[in-house]
Order: sequence, then structure tokens, then C-alpha cells
Amino acid sequence: MPGTELFGAEERKEVNDVLETGVLFRYNHDTERKGIWKAREFEAEVAKFTGAKYAHAVSSGSAAVSTALAACGIGYGDEVIVPPFTFVATIEAVMIAGALPVFAEIDETICLSPEGIRAAITPKTKAVLLVHMCGAIGRIEEIMAICKEHNLLFIEDSAQALGASYKGKMAGTFGLMGCYSFDFFKIVTCGEGGIVVTNDEQLYKNADTFSDHGHDHIGNARGMEQHPNIGCNFRIGEMNAAVGLAQMRKIHFIIEKQRRHKQIMKDVLKKYPQITFRHIPDEEGDSATCLSFFGPSEAVTRQIVKAFAENGIDACQYWYDNMFHYIRQWDQIRGIKATYQMPVHVLEQPQDYAHIQFPKSDNIVSRLISMIIKVNWTEEQIADRVAKLEKALDSVF
Ligand SMILES: *Cc1c(COP(=O)(O)O)cnc(C)c1O
Repeated sequence: MPGTELFGAEERKEVNDVLETGVLFRYNHDTERKGIWKAREFEAEVAKFTGAKYAHAVSSGSAAVSTALAACGIGYGDEVIVPPFTFVATIEAVMIAGALPVFAEIDETICLSPEGIRAAITPKTKAVLLVHMCGAIGRIEEIMAICKEHNLLFIEDSAQALGASYKGKMAGTFGLMGCYSFDFFKIVTCGEGGIVVTNDEQLYKNADTFSDHGHDHIGNARGMEQHPNIGCNFRIGEMNAAVGLAQMRKIHFIIEKQRRHKQIMKDVLKKYPQITFRHIPDEEGDSATCLSFFGPSEAVTRQIVKAFAENGIDACQYWYDNMFHYIRQWDQIRGIKATYQMPVHVLEQPQDYAHIQFPKSDNIVSRLISMIIKVNWTEEQIADRVAKLEKALDSVF
């Protein structure tokens, strides 16, 4: 949880700027706000960092995914290929849009595999919603080639991959739109917030209007604006944007620290030939938020998890049992349990969600452990962690 480890005077200063004027709303009030535009500055910072032409901030990463789907024209009955291993928000956004998720297998990049995507394509497939899991990018060139070949819209849920890149290009800038989250658990946080990025002016305008009741934001009289389309309220507030702005200025420092700390942990695990690592096609572009590795089998991986717990090694996720990241535990998704009727209830389902199995993904996720890399680990804590890791792994192998 790097960003949350680094709250300081910088965040307080930005928030205080907003409190001084009392304009918590991101639009209008030009006189009262005295030149303080935190949401705009936050967007500019993210656009600069990612190299995207346009960035638009919203109220959460989940809202960012919903906004991207809406902006790209994905809705009623459209089939969207998604991974079964992601934060559940990805799937919720598809269903809330009125679209139908089609789950495809992942590979050892822990992201969707090109083979999995190919096998999931039907004549109704409209888009691929790729998730860059745990801070790094998978086989993106092959995946983009498939989208091109089949004329599919390509959108990136980069909520976990701000700062990751592939051959120098940032996660979130490959597709029509990219989505980032700034929730409390991401590389940088603003409490609750999200951003969509794109290089397409029309898509940017679609996102801008959709996330604020259709307002076109032309002129400075809110009541007199035009409304090119129906929207909703996914606005970010100035207080959250202020925190996000301060945090964005720390992201280079965070990534550098994470890379160093991750390498130290990886060097320990490398001494055990039974352990293998998540495949990252461009290692140099790893944002290093996590060290993800595989045990030789589910049984041995469970022994590692147990040994880590017994030795006090914290911040390690065994996603196979985690209730929020893998379809195995998503009873609400498999049963499409909702408080209201969605198109996915009424339309013919592209997959039998309740029963469909993912043998390849099961094999991968059941052997996967992700160690969350922290920024504020001291040299002492690192040495202690290394010793504990060796002790735990020696007890297993
Ligand atoms: C965190 C996350 C989201 C949602 O972000 P929130 O800001 O928590 O709404 C969406 N997709 C993925 C892959 C995430 O990890």
C-alpha cells in the first residue's frame, strides 16, 4: 500500500488550499475559488505521467471503468471479454452497463491470455476489457493484434497498473481508454477516486459529460450548459483530487523504491528452484507493486502460505482463497445475485456462469502468491524479512 505509507505535509498543503476557499466542487465558482483547481491539476499530472492526451477524473476506479464502457459505446447485450482473475469491480461495471461478461482464461502473466481471448470470441463480442493485474502488463501486443483482427474495442482496466509500462508505453494508453483507481490500496491514493485516459477527443468528451449528468462544461454558467447525452454523477470532489495531486508527485519515488525492495525479495526466492515467477514480457516496465510467484503445486503453495503465516511474514495474498479477486469465490457473480433486474438476467447468457470452469486459470491461481511490496521498509525490516523468508522456505523445501 505504498501511497498510504507516504502521507505528509504535501497532501495536507493541497487539501488546505481547497479548505481555504471552501470550494469543494470541481466546476465553476471561478471568483470564489481563487485559482484553485485541484481536479484539473490532478488530471494534468496523470496525463503528463502517462503520456495520454486527455485525462478525466471521476469518483472511483469502478466509476472509471463504467465511464470508459459508456464513453466507448458499450451497453445493452454487448459481449465483453474479461478475466476471471481481477478485482470484482471489472465484472460489476460490465453488468451494470447492461453488457454481458464473457470470461476467458489467463496465463502465467496472470492476465488474460491471447489463446483464452481467441477461444472466447463469438459473433456478439464487442470488446476486450483487459486487466493488468498486480502492477504489470501481460502479452499486450498479441492481444491488441487479436482485437484488430476481429474488430473489437480494446479497453484497459489499469486500476492496478498505474506506472507499469511495456516497451516504454504506459499501461492505460494502449487501448481506446484506460482506467486507473486511486482507492486506499493502490500505488497512489486519493481516498476514493479514479481517472480515465484516452487520446481520442470525442471519447474524452463522452467521459466528461457522462460522469456529470451530461453537462458539456462549456462556459461558466452551469445552469446554462448544453447536455449532449444522459449521464450520472461520477464526479470527483476537490478534496480527493487535492490528495491525488500530491500523491502523483511521489509516484516516481514510489516506483524506484518498490523496484529495489522487490529485487531483494526476489533474490531470496530465486534460491529455491521449485519457485517460479509471474511472466512479465517487459520486466523493465514492472511497477513492482507486488512480487507474484508460483509454487510447484497447489498443495505445496498452501504449505508456503502456512509457513509464511507461522513465521510472521505479512502482506502476502493467496488469491485462490481470497473472496474478491478470483471467480472461484464469486458466488454473487456466478449466481448473478442482484437487487434489481439487469440485461444479463434477461438475455441469453453467453456462458453458464454458475458452472463454467477455468482449468488453466485454476492451475495458475491455485499456485500463485503475491507479496505486496512496501516503500517504507527500513534496512532492518528488510533484513528481518529476508531471514524469515529463508526460514519459512527452508521448512517447506
Ligand atoms: C481497485 C480496482 C478497481 C476499482 O477501483 P475502486 O477505486 O476501488 O473503485 C477496478 N478494477 C481493478 C482491477 C481494481 O484493482
